Amino acid sequence: MSNSFLDLLDSRDALLADGATGTNLFNMGLQSGDAPELWNTDEPAKIKALYQGSVDAGSDLFLTNSFGGTAARLKLHDAQGRVRELNRVAAELGREVADKSERKIAVAGSVGPTGEIMQPVGELSHALAVEMFHEQADALKEGGVDVLWLETISAPEEFAAAAEAFKLVGLPWCGTMSFDTAGRTMMGVTSADLAKLVEDFDVPPLAFGANCGTGASDILRTVLGFAAQGTERPIISKGNAGIPKYVDGHIHYDGTPELMGEYAVMARDCGAKIIGGCCGTMPDHLRKMREALDSRPRGERPALEQIVEVLGPFSSANDGTEEGGAATSERRNRRGRRRS
Ligand SMILES: [Zn+2]
Repeated sequence: MSNSFLDLLDSRDALLADGATGTNLFNMGLQSGDAPELWNTDEPAKIKALYQGSVDAGSDLFLTNSFGGTAARLKLHDAQGRVRELNRVAAELGREVADKSERKIAVAGSVGPTGEIMQPVGELSHALAVEMFHEQADALKEGGVDVLWLETISAPEEFAAAAEAFKLVGLPWCGTMSFDTAGRTMMGVTSADLAKLVEDFDVPPLAFGANCGTGASDILRTVLGFAAQGTERPIISKGNAGIPKYVDGHIHYDGTPELMGEYAVMARDCGAKIIGGCCGTMPDHLRKMREALDSRPRGERPALEQIVEVLGPFSSANDGTEEGGAATSERRNRRGRRRS
């Protein structure tokens, strides 16, 4: 059986993924605190419009509206009994939009974090996490997704639980973490750690990388970190449209469509094969990204200075891979002093 995602991955130099789900749905009237997944059945026309917006802007793949579709997350909205229905419909709506397009479009089943902290630090057991991811992924498969797409993960334990669940479901998968804490995930994972982690699974992801995090510059430094590990696995970069700023009671992302076009080209030069946006990324941004990827030639891997020059400053001094952080620079200083 053919699989749109595998076909695209094999045949293209770079793939354009989609942009934000939350930002776009808020613009359609979703209220902060509401579960976006309930719109799969309550507002299916709006969800199809969300998907269609990415397709029309030139995306090769889009993620389903199922990020918070585990029982743990839906429980916050008293909808833990609707995991199968809400995820299946998210996928079916996606399939409908993808299949009527003249271009080949892949539907990726979004799976976000459970929102709970896993053992040994927290309460959530490995077995229960696997069970919840399995339930969600199975419903996404039933709805017809081409690939499962784990995103915005911080803990390696949670990444591993999802990997195990996806193996049970038997669909190819991709996975990204959010490096939002001075180059590391909230649980301390570095780009180098993730590049190694993905090779340890029985069924590794087809592609892996970073999403969300902080700004466009930071995520490219993370992509360079993956590439520095010599990975041969396709790298994913789904960065936010600039840096979030609080303006008039709203979160506003300051990245323009032009900036995201530059980001897309630089992401490809840094070694990413699947390039998209995250928070703040709208169809106008995607259009510029598509245009830039199609019209500009591939270039040399950029230096950090070039990234800053084009996309703006990093939000932290380094990418978190320096062993021991401050302790290392302390050692370096001492070494430096000894030499001088
Ligand atoms: Zn995001």
